[in-house]
Amino acid sequence: MSARKIVIIGAGVVGTTFAYALQINGGADEIVLIDIDRKRVEGEVLDLNHGLMFTSPVRIRAGDYDDCAGADVVVITAGAKQKPGQSRLALVETNVRIMFEIVEKVVEKTSDSVLLVVSNPVDILTYAALKASGLPKQRVIGSGTVLDSARFRYLLSSRCRVDPHNVHAYVLGEHGDSEVMAWSMTHIAGTPIGDACRICDDMMSEDVRGEIAESVRDSAYHIIDAKGATNYAVGLALVRIVRAIIRDENSILTVSTLLDGEFGIKDVCIGAPTVVNSRGADRVFDVPLSDDELKALRASANSLKGILGKTGLQSGEWSRRRSGELPVS
Ligand code: NAD
Repeated sequence: MSARKIVIIGAGVVGTTFAYALQINGGADEIVLIDIDRKRVEGEVLDLNHGLMFTSPVRIRAGDYDDCAGADVVVITAGAKQKPGQSRLALVETNVRIMFEIVEKVVEKTSDSVLLVVSNPVDILTYAALKASGLPKQRVIGSGTVLDSARFRYLLSSRCRVDPHNVHAYVLGEHGDSEVMAWSMTHIAGTPIGDACRICDDMMSEDVRGEIAESVRDSAYHIIDAKGATNYAVGLALVRIVRAIIRDENSILTVSTLLDGEFGIKDVCIGAPTVVNSRGADRVFDVPLSDDELKALRASANSLKGILGKTGLQSGEWSRRRSGELPVS
């Protein structure tokens, strides 16, 4: 097997926590960190390297865009970050611009890596990365609602007092305010959640379900308010996605991927149950949802399309503004 190389662009809190988690979990032979702040990235790399005698061997270094050549996965965590109380979507214009600058440099050096977008608003930026790269849709994916699904599973597992590994639950849609808890897909020990509740004799009321959904949705706001950034769980979620790619695992993860008619949704990147393997987001599982969930998922897609409409990414207006053909508003 050839050496597995992961490039991380954006060595901030999320990028370095992911590098650290990847170093500890193993799976990569080489980790390259790139950031506009070269001094910081060199400090981070030195610190990570000092831990090498406690982990499996892995080459960790600061690099530049030339290092994207031969990368299995290029993970993009660069960008301006969410401020306390700020919605993810408010970050959009600045981060679309940064994403185009980065992706154009990446694809000059590699055309066979999988690009994994993490920066927020992740669904919009995944779409932007897809447009900027010209790569097939399978190879440009976003971290989507993988983290949200983990938060959902954690909350259900604590409420039901079972290991999160025995809870299967998915959050679909936007990684953000319009995301959808797919209760109809939620199982404990292979049993639909309603039946599991009957076994436990602890029926989860609509109110409790609502509280859990709200808690999943608002987690990032609470964490950012308390400590300025979310990093540990997302770092581990990224390890999970990257391992599914480099080990060709065919894992079903709710990454953000371009939908082409699944769930009746088209031309938007959104978190959906997707088979992830060495090809990237290989295929979407168009699973049956309840009428309400389907309606909510389509509403989530429409809300993202509203943002995409404002950026001009779908109409091509964005490219014409960038090339100077149209004035910047
Ligand atoms: P941060 O500010 O700590 O790090 C961002 C880094 O990007 C900085 O080091 C900065 O120097 C670098 N950067 C900025 N412009 C760059 C460019 N053009 N080229 C290279 N590097 C550049 O922020 P963070 O807390 O690490 O968050 C990073 C992003 O991840 C944010 O957009 C945040 O909202 C997002 N995020 C996503 C998820 C998710 O589940 N998708 C979870 C948490 C955070």
